[in-house]
Amino acid sequence: MSGPVTLTATIAEGLEGLRFFGALPLRLRRPIPRESARAAVRERLARRGEGLLTLARTAIFPFPASPYARLLAHAGLAYGDLEGLVARQGLDEALAHLFRSGVYLTGDELKGRHPVVRGNLRFTIDTGALRNPTVVPHLLATSSGSRGRGTMVALDLRSVRDQATNTCLELHARGALGWRHAAWRVPGGAQLTQTIRYAMAGTRFERTFTPVDPGMASLHPRYRWSERILRWAMRAGGHPMPPLEHVALDRPLPILQWMARVLREGGVPHVLCYSSGGARLCRAAVDAGIGIAGARLTVGGEPVTSARLAAIAAAGVVAGWRYGCTEAGGILAVGCLAPRSAGELHFMHDLRAVIQPGADGATAGLPPRALLVTSLRPITPLVLLNASLGDEGTLGSRDCGCPMEAEGWTTHLEELRSFEKLTIGGMCLAHADLGRLVDEVLPARFGGGPADWQLVEEEATDGAPHLYLAASPRLGPLAGDAVSDAVLSWIGRGDGVERIASILYRDGGFVRMVRREPFTTSGKVGHVHVARADSTASAGSRHA
Ligand SMILES: [Zn+2]
Repeated sequence: MSGPVTLTATIAEGLEGLRFFGALPLRLRRPIPRESARAAVRERLARRGEGLLTLARTAIFPFPASPYARLLAHAGLAYGDLEGLVARQGLDEALAHLFRSGVYLTGDELKGRHPVVRGNLRFTIDTGALRNPTVVPHLLATSSGSRGRGTMVALDLRSVRDQATNTCLELHARGALGWRHAAWRVPGGAQLTQTIRYAMAGTRFERTFTPVDPGMASLHPRYRWSERILRWAMRAGGHPMPPLEHVALDRPLPILQWMARVLREGGVPHVLCYSSGGARLCRAAVDAGIGIAGARLTVGGEPVTSARLAAIAAAGVVAGWRYGCTEAGGILAVGCLAPRSAGELHFMHDLRAVIQPGADGATAGLPPRALLVTSLRPITPLVLLNASLGDEGTLGSRDCGCPMEAEGWTTHLEELRSFEKLTIGGMCLAHADLGRLVDEVLPARFGGGPADWQLVEEEATDGAPHLYLAASPRLGPLAGDAVSDAVLSWIGRGDGVERIASILYRDGGFVRMVRREPFTTSGKVGHVHVARADSTASAGSRHA
């Protein structure tokens, strides 16, 4: 990137930071009472259709350049048609109708990796095209997407407060307001908004651990900037934040010692971390003989599998989980407290709608169980209308009887998995980008062709994630270190999230080379192959 571009971006980020600093302290003074949170969620649930229509009226139809305005126009749908559909068929059916009319975005279209093509309509989505034009951001967050475009997500404090009402109810439901909270996640937008949501809900983080050294010179200055701004604003609002402490993935002792101390003091330690990080933490406790039974974890950012949950339970620790995505503006679903399957969730459909394409997905290149998400709040920073975030799962309803159900979140989501990205260590790598690595970068440097290389995401039986590179034995002698190094350098080409991912993967020993023929699915070699301990294998698409 050229100097001036970076400088302009930094000035813009600085200005947004000042707005944020002005607005946050006031919003932190009074935590959200549980009854107000309940009333807000009930109100939003009762007006879901209206939420979509308001968003369409204010943020889509007045802006002909909006990707959704173009898709709707191409489908011949004006605002009145949308209003009629919602009135006659209800919100979810109206969204299904829109999908069948071509009004949706796949993950690759959303990120600008593929052009949007519907009949004779063809365009590519630029960075910022999905930002809500009516929202003035208070701070920019960085999503955990894998590459350059569209990784900056605007944060609006009104929207964070929308989410904080749900956080408040979630914490009450789990009896978690009196727990002592810590986080062990990479620095960035997700952790910043989490800190604000907790403060708005009336609690705070006692410790914040990060697996990546936040002082690393190679990180983009925005990480330090956004962290510093939040720190000032939180202090001004009466919620001082603990310092960031670097705790590498393979040396979690400081976290275990904190948990053990809180337990000795009669408290309940609670750590927010990635699913594999939680499993790692609990295995380390068992190995080191440190008693942390009775502690709590909230895991996410990666599949919540039965192998990972078993590793956590073996240390006597109780896990909760959730499903979030910075691109979608935060948390989409919270863990069921009476789950019938590993990682069962309640989708928070007061903030967003979710539908699935079913058999109609084939024309869009989407699996039948893909989750198409729609923003229902007019103040959402990023507008999603039938947008695929690259995840799939099983949606349904059942009477679980847990408190999340009682709050009105009656849509259950099970078997959540990604289909067009790898999620390892809480970071996402798009199959489309990894395709270039396997098809072009590695063959050019080490020989062979695309069918000789494959990235395999494998979950060991103890829940540990491994990203390994299958290199065909036909390639002859190869130095494993040089190949792993080439993969990590390629992943870490940017200065933001990509760099964080490569540091994390290097530290965590996630990438190694294995000499074996790539896996084939239906006779084809995929760029990416996923093999989990508790589910059947699935392959990434080669045409991506
Ligand atoms: Zn439940």
